[in-house]
Amino acid sequence: MPDYRHSLQAVKDVWENCQACDLGVRRKEVGGKFVFGEGAPRGIMFIGEGPGTTEEEMGRPFIGKSGMVLRQVIDKMGLNGSCYVTNVVSCRSCVPAYNSEGQPITRLDRSSGQRLPVIRDDTPNPLQMASCLPRLHEEIYLVDPVLIVTLGGEATKAIIPERSFSILSERGKTREISIPGAWDIPSLTDKRKAWVRKVKGELVMPTIQNSVRYLVLPTLHPSYVLRRQADQSYKNPLDMFLLDMKQAAHIYDRYLLETFGTEPQTREVTVDDIAEDV
Ligand code: URA
Repeated sequence: MPDYRHSLQAVKDVWENCQACDLGVRRKEVGGKFVFGEGAPRGIMFIGEGPGTTEEEMGRPFIGKSGMVLRQVIDKMGLNGSCYVTNVVSCRSCVPAYNSEGQPITRLDRSSGQRLPVIRDDTPNPLQMASCLPRLHEEIYLVDPVLIVTLGGEATKAIIPERSFSILSERGKTREISIPGAWDIPSLTDKRKAWVRKVKGELVMPTIQNSVRYLVLPTLHPSYVLRRQADQSYKNPLDMFLLDMKQAAHIYDRYLLETFGTEPQTREVTVDDIAEDV
C-alpha cells in the first residue's frame, strides 16, 4: 500500500497547523495563509527566505513583486513545468515599522477610518528557520530535485549551515548538501527501486541511517535584484542573477541529456527581456 503520509499534500496537511514557533502563532492570530511549495518534482527547486504580504494573503510562494521576477525568468527560459518553488519558512515573518525617531509608522485604513500600524517583512530568525527545517527537508526529499537553487544569503545559510559568507561571493558556485533520508519503514519499502540513491559511491535505500545528497547553487534573492536594479552605480545584479539561472538550466539540461537523451533546448534570456517587465 502506498505511504500517503509521505506525499507532498500529506506533509502540507501536517505542517499547516504548526505552532512550533511564533510565526505560526501570529499567522493563526491574523488568519494568514500557510505558504507551502508548488511546482514540478525532479527539476530545479528554488528556495527563498519566506513569504511576504501577498504570499501570506494568497497562500502561494513567490507571487508578489519579487516573485514575478523569478517567475518571468523561469518562463522566458522555458523552464515552466520543470521547477518547484518554496521557502525556508512557510509562515510570514514581519515586524511593526518605526520611523527614525522610533515612533511606529501608521497608515489610514479607508474602510474603518482608523490609523493602523504599518507592518514590514522581516528576516526569520535562526530559531524560526530551525523550526521549519524538518518541513523543508521533507519537501526536498519528496520533490527530489536535480538541483536546488537557494535565493539570497538567508536561504543559502539555512541550507548550507556553515561559517558566515557573503552571497555575492558564494553565488554561482555549486555545493553539495545532505538531508535526512526517509525515516520510516513503509516509505522505505514503497520507494524500493525508484528511490535508490548513491551514498559514498554505493547504491543504498534512503533510511534514517543514511542521508540523501543534493547539488545546491546559491544565487541572489530576486528582491535584491529588484532593489539594486534601480541603482546604476552597482554592478548589474540582474546580469548576475541571469548568469546563475543559465548555469542552473545548463545543469538541468545536462541531466536530461544524460538520463533521457533529451537534446538541450535554447534558453536565451537577456537583461533587456526581463528589465522591460520589471
Ligand atoms: N520572498 C521570498 O523569499 N519568498 C516568497 O515567497 C516571496 C518573497
